[in-house]
Amino acid sequence: MPEPAVPTRAVVVGAGLAGCEAAFQLARHGVPVLLLEMKPGRKTPAHHADTFAELVCSNSLRSDRLENAVGLLKQEMRTLGSLILAAADRCRVPAGGALAVDRDGFTGTVTRALRADPLIEIREAFVESIPDGPSIIATGPLTEGPLADDIVQFLGYGSLHFFDAAAPIVSADSVDLSIAFRASRYGKGGDDYLNCPMDEAEYLAFHAALVTAETADIHDFDKGAVFEGCMPVETMAGRGLDTIRFGPLKPVGLTDPRTGRTPYAVVQLRQDDAARSLYNLVGFQTRLKQKEQMRVFRMIPGLAHAEFERFGAMHRNTYLPSPGRLAADYSATGPLLPNVRPDLFFAGQMTGVEGYVESASSGLLAGINLARRLLVLDPFVPPPSTAIGALSAYVSGERSSAFEPMNANFGLIRVPEGRSRRKDDKVRATIEESLSVATSLAAELPPFRSPVDAL
Ligand SMILES: Cc1cc2nc3c(=O)[nH]c(=O)nc-3n(C[C@H](O)[C@H](O)[C@H](O)COP(=O)(O)OP(=O)(O)OC[C@H]3O[C@@H](n4cnc5c(N)ncnc54)[C@H](O)[C@@H]3O)c2cc1C
Repeated sequence: MPEPAVPTRAVVVGAGLAGCEAAFQLARHGVPVLLLEMKPGRKTPAHHADTFAELVCSNSLRSDRLENAVGLLKQEMRTLGSLILAAADRCRVPAGGALAVDRDGFTGTVTRALRADPLIEIREAFVESIPDGPSIIATGPLTEGPLADDIVQFLGYGSLHFFDAAAPIVSADSVDLSIAFRASRYGKGGDDYLNCPMDEAEYLAFHAALVTAETADIHDFDKGAVFEGCMPVETMAGRGLDTIRFGPLKPVGLTDPRTGRTPYAVVQLRQDDAARSLYNLVGFQTRLKQKEQMRVFRMIPGLAHAEFERFGAMHRNTYLPSPGRLAADYSATGPLLPNVRPDLFFAGQMTGVEGYVESASSGLLAGINLARRLLVLDPFVPPPSTAIGALSAYVSGERSSAFEPMNANFGLIRVPEGRSRRKDDKVRATIEESLSVATSLAAELPPFRSPVDAL
């Protein structure tokens, strides 16, 4: 092993879920950190607290069950040694199978742990450009202003992705293929789509449920974007009984093999990943509450037992065109960059991962990898058979369709060859494999001393 270099100071920009985890991991490796955060003097429209790692919406870090991919991701992060998970476990409140936290207790714990670390200097600053020298940018999905402009320039890309709507994604094996059929409109494009056919009665019942379903609140700052830029499927449906039947649910060019006829309406599902394990509901960007999405969208023939890997959502979300620009260790070394910068990393929701835990997981890998680069150690890249490695592979890898932010899900995790394809066995095999890989990888890292125990 080469002689470790004397660690220089690393800069972390943004003390959100990702930035806090990254700063902790750097310090854990003995690397001094300057953590720059614009709060409390300046806040995005979604942030209200003065503390770090603020949960901008729900207080839930979602399922803690290993059979749920985000539960598995959390367990891997505990195994690898995570500040965010240590704080969340300490501040847990009862929430069934989910890991929900006392919001103030959680952010207060993370903030105190970072302030107590002698290697971390925290400074209030509104950062306007990518710092020189070893750095991690973790300024979140609401990054804007001069820093966003500088990132655009660095990426050599027209603009940062911006979307205000996403359609739900379901797992392929939860679609009932005795009802849904594979085809493309007018036979152009092979069997690219899964098509869920509706007769008139099914359509009328679905339409009635859609237009009366409960929608989620939208933050004031997002309202302009929602109503100017795109049209939620329920809003379109509210314009008239047939509007969506001439829009996303149009049946033309499709023949249901069960009847030999064109259905009254069709919901199309488009492949969302190269492995064909995920499908999105085409044109179904929505702001229905999640429980309403489950109730109403499961009325679609073929989707009665659909498992939602990601719910449709509408909010502002700025993220990088990461594939080809970020590597699997979250460094800015991808081949599509005009100038690579091995000492620059990005982390958090802005890289294209979606969710609190996923954001923290990328901070964990970015922090470890910047530290290892400074210590002249090999990159630390968990394989895609782990949830954490599957997410970094998603962010950095090639895409068969448009790149959109992604939650942890079993569709992304790659089980080693030769494992059973039966769904229950596959999930069990994945859990076993991922936790065993995480345990052996943890041995490559410095010992984890929980920073929250001493508080
Ligand atoms: C409105 C909204 C609601 C969401 N709700 C949920 C939810 O309920 N559950 C869920 O799992 N995910 C949710 N997300 C998605 C995502 O998980 C969160 O956005 C998460 O906080 C992302 O973590 P992060 O560390 O990448 O960014 P953030 O947590 O946003 O942290 C970024 C930090 O950088 C600071 N910063 C920004 N710009 C600068 C600058 N120029 N200089 C210095 N500091 C700066 C900010 O003040 C902030 O502290 C939501 C996102 C949004 C926008």
